[in-house]
Amino acid sequence: MIADKNPKRTSLEELGEFGLIDHLTKDFPLQQKSTVKGIGDDAAVLDFKDRKTLVSTDLLIEGVHFDLSYMPLKHLGYKAVVVNLSDIYAMNAIATQITVSIAVSNRFPLEALEAFYEGVALAAKTYGVDVVGGDTTSSTKGMLISITAIGAAMENKIVYRNGAKPNDLLVVTGDLGGAYMGLQVLEREKEVFKVNPNNQPDLDAYSYIVERQLKPEARKDMVALLDKLGVHPTAMIDISDGLSSEILHLCKQSEVGCNLYEDKIPLDPTVISSCEEFGLDSTMVALSGGEDYELLFTVDQKEFPKIKGNPNLTVVGHMTAKSEGAHLISRNISKIPLTAQGWNSLAKA
Ligand code: ADP
Ligand code: MG
Repeated sequence: MIADKNPKRTSLEELGEFGLIDHLTKDFPLQQKSTVKGIGDDAAVLDFKDRKTLVSTDLLIEGVHFDLSYMPLKHLGYKAVVVNLSDIYAMNAIATQITVSIAVSNRFPLEALEAFYEGVALAAKTYGVDVVGGDTTSSTKGMLISITAIGAAMENKIVYRNGAKPNDLLVVTGDLGGAYMGLQVLEREKEVFKVNPNNQPDLDAYSYIVERQLKPEARKDMVALLDKLGVHPTAMIDISDGLSSEILHLCKQSEVGCNLYEDKIPLDPTVISSCEEFGLDSTMVALSGGEDYELLFTVDQKEFPKIKGNPNLTVVGHMTAKSEGAHLISRNISKIPLTAQGWNSLAKA
């Protein structure tokens, strides 16, 4: 499906490690005042003055976290950055710098790494973060990527997972399940391609969900929106694993329970139609699908007038006393315990 249209293959050995680093990192302009020294010395130097520093890191392994047979390398570079920035935004902070470390086997030519770095550079530009370092090494098999995101925020703005109170509203940004359904479409096309490599997929009808999978965005805009609305969440987390598992994290760390209303879960029409096509339950997909990188937060009920009617923010439930547990209130008003896998359909409430 992703046939290599660019036959040029420059072997990494030709460049050597330092030539490769210079080549990949030559075009990273500094955009943040807090970056005192970026790439080129033994360490980057950052200065956040009166703000607190936030750090988050992720490790991505080929075959475990990404599949290069349908993930173009430029998209992979973009997504690898975005998923890290999402963790900084989930603290209600601003992402400022990243480091990018890669290990590749000799099956990767220079052109592949250039494509990956194009994606990294595009994400860095889009989100206004500086690439201030990294590491480059070889692997015996496949590609490994580790990205560290650094951010800053005033101490009183930082939102943790543990501040939710009973009766707080539970709010989600955007819509859910798209990235998982995009993956279903791509996996199906990969199987079709294996049988008939001449069969070019027509993904037009699925463009929204395929893009949610291949080119997700982190909700920097929602952090700005909350600031503009004067809303201070009591707890927040980004939705990387699926709504259900993230709700359980908030409940556990905040020592509260939760009622999530099935009919409130925001779904794009293409998620609903593709679920029908694949014979999947759209609620289950939103609860367990993952990789949507939306934000999930709780707010005091007093804040409701500020968020009411905003098309980007959906109230999906409310927190309860811990003793009440975490439940999905289904469309037929039955109360089903939430589990990390979605809901426990065997348990009767
Ligand atoms: P060291 O030997 O001290 O680890 P390197 O020669 O690996 O230093 O790195 C030189 C500079 O290039 C450092 O600033 C490092 O952070 C940066 N760097 C190395 N690899 C990468 C990469 N893949 N992406 C971005 N910056 C990198
Ligand atoms: Mg190094």
